[in-house]
Amino acid sequence: MIAQDEQIRVTLPDGSVRQYPKGSTGLDIATQISEGLARNVLAAKVNGKVQDATQPINEDASVQLLTWNDAEGKATFWHSSAHLLAEALESLYPGVKFGIGPAVETGFYYDVDLNGQPFSQEDFKKVEDKMLELARQKQDYIRKPMSKADAIAYFEEKGDPYKLDLLEGLDDGTITFYTQGQFTDLCRGPHIPNTGFVKAAKLMNVAGAYWRGNEKNKQLTRIYAVTYPKQKELDEYLHLLEEAKKRDHRKLGKELDLFAFSERVGAGLPLWLPKGTMLRERLENFLRKAQIRAGYQQVVTPHIGSKQLYVTSGHWDKYGEDSFQPIKTPDPNEEFLLKPMNCPHHCEIYKTRPRSYRDLPLRLAEFGTVYRYEQSGELHGLTRVRGFTQDDAHIFCRPDQVKDEFMKVIDLVLYVFKSLGFSDYSAQVSLRDPENKAKYIGSDDLWERAESAIIEAAAEKGLRTVTELGEAAFYGPKLDFMVRDALGRRWQLGTIQVDYNLPNRFELEYIGADNQKHRPVMIHRAPFGSMERFIAILIENTGGNFPLWLSPDQIAILPISEKYEDYANDLYFTLQEHDIRGFVDLRDEKIGRKIRDAEVNKVPFMLVVGEKEAAEGKVSVRRKGQGDLGSMSIAEFVETFQQEVKV
Ligand SMILES: [Zn+2]
Ligand SMILES: [Zn+2]
Repeated sequence: MIAQDEQIRVTLPDGSVRQYPKGSTGLDIATQISEGLARNVLAAKVNGKVQDATQPINEDASVQLLTWNDAEGKATFWHSSAHLLAEALESLYPGVKFGIGPAVETGFYYDVDLNGQPFSQEDFKKVEDKMLELARQKQDYIRKPMSKADAIAYFEEKGDPYKLDLLEGLDDGTITFYTQGQFTDLCRGPHIPNTGFVKAAKLMNVAGAYWRGNEKNKQLTRIYAVTYPKQKELDEYLHLLEEAKKRDHRKLGKELDLFAFSERVGAGLPLWLPKGTMLRERLENFLRKAQIRAGYQQVVTPHIGSKQLYVTSGHWDKYGEDSFQPIKTPDPNEEFLLKPMNCPHHCEIYKTRPRSYRDLPLRLAEFGTVYRYEQSGELHGLTRVRGFTQDDAHIFCRPDQVKDEFMKVIDLVLYVFKSLGFSDYSAQVSLRDPENKAKYIGSDDLWERAESAIIEAAAEKGLRTVTELGEAAFYGPKLDFMVRDALGRRWQLGTIQVDYNLPNRFELEYIGADNQKHRPVMIHRAPFGSMERFIAILIENTGGNFPLWLSPDQIAILPISEKYEDYANDLYFTLQEHDIRGFVDLRDEKIGRKIRDAEVNKVPFMLVVGEKEAAEGKVSVRRKGQGDLGSMSIAEFVETFQQEVKV
């Protein structure tokens, strides 16, 4: 019996402290809080470590109860589902042997050796049904510590060489088995309380995978699957996957002729086609205009810089080995690097003349192309590339101007989001780890001022923020923006970052009102992040249906037959004078076909011209997504167009 004085103190995430009998479990704590919570607890995070919700807690601890809404709760759910998949496989494929079964970003997989039994898409349904049948039995996941000898004996008896191989690397005393129903696995856990939480299961894919990733080993069958606590959530997820596939920017980029890659040019180096370039230039002009209004000055700097520049900035030390290697010249004493960042160049611009406190803030903006060596396996469409253009700017200011400058950058970022249809966004404030101040450069005083400046600026602008301790860079705190796209996916966009490091390394100075030398603060910021990544997100968010002002082809003029080509061409030149861009479809095709093709190419306005239009000097207007807008004079159409572009 546990003596009454054997109590532990449990600190909950809201900071409240409660007493529980020693040996209470996460589930016990949840039950005391509410039945509803107890029904949803998947695991418990005890002093930073995730464990089974049913595992006793024997000492004072901070405890977070994890549900489906927590990333670690989800991971526990999915990893536990891998055991369920294994149990289903074992009952359907006698003699199956198991490798590993981890959770992944969405779902989980299990590597299995089916002993030569065939397995394909056609078998998915029967495995899913079996998983759900076993789930309905609400089998508990039972944890059992094992000695290494007993564990080896178990898998020798069962005849599973992969588990025996895994056991070889484990120390006696650290080994646990988990059993649910008829299935026992070697696993360190944690798991959800029972299989009953799994209400929906779907096998997604099957692929080959070498045991331990080594091609000398046997190739196993990797079965990918996903499970959900509600059928509705699985349905939504599958629908989202379908939509995401349709909107994949790599697919749409090709279909809409926006960009391409060429192996001969090199992996990760996008080629912007005329239409993509048009889109990109419109975006740049939009931001350039907004930046000029906000007091920025444009600069241009070269694509390379001397190696010494990056030794000074510290980039060489930090990234030199793993990036593009120095460029040599006939002069053996010279070396250059492709520029990985624009900041060092901008520091040198700052240094071109003495600065006084009255010159600050100095805001230097550049659409600067940078080059970073990403591993080829990491490259992905426009979102991970080796050469990209940042919508970069650096603000050099006095420490007392940091908050004001942050507010102005927040305004700019929100203006960009609003103009481009991202209405669901939030921000993350990344601060120092207060327990480990030594690893950050810059004085305590500077950090405290900058951190409170960011927090206050975000609050005054009404931003929805989360604060993360220990997420700041070593050189300064930052604010990152996250947007949710039309499919509910979250993307990290614009960053605003304070930097105390580069002003030191480049010995930047200004003369203060006190006639003394002072060090300015540097703020890095990029509302889009990079043109490439931003356009990828924009493509996926709009499905290629860009707002009119951004559309590469805003109009398609569609003559009904070649008789009206002259009228169509004249019309095109007239509209060009109003800054309306597009093309005349002169192909020898039926008008129905021309309209369909313009629709597929997501051209916003289709202007059909035939005998009546040519005679009356009019156009028949179709708006994509709205249908027929009727016949208009050219002036009326220009007016309609300009009204929409303005919004
Ligand atoms: Zn497990
Ligand atoms: Zn920078």
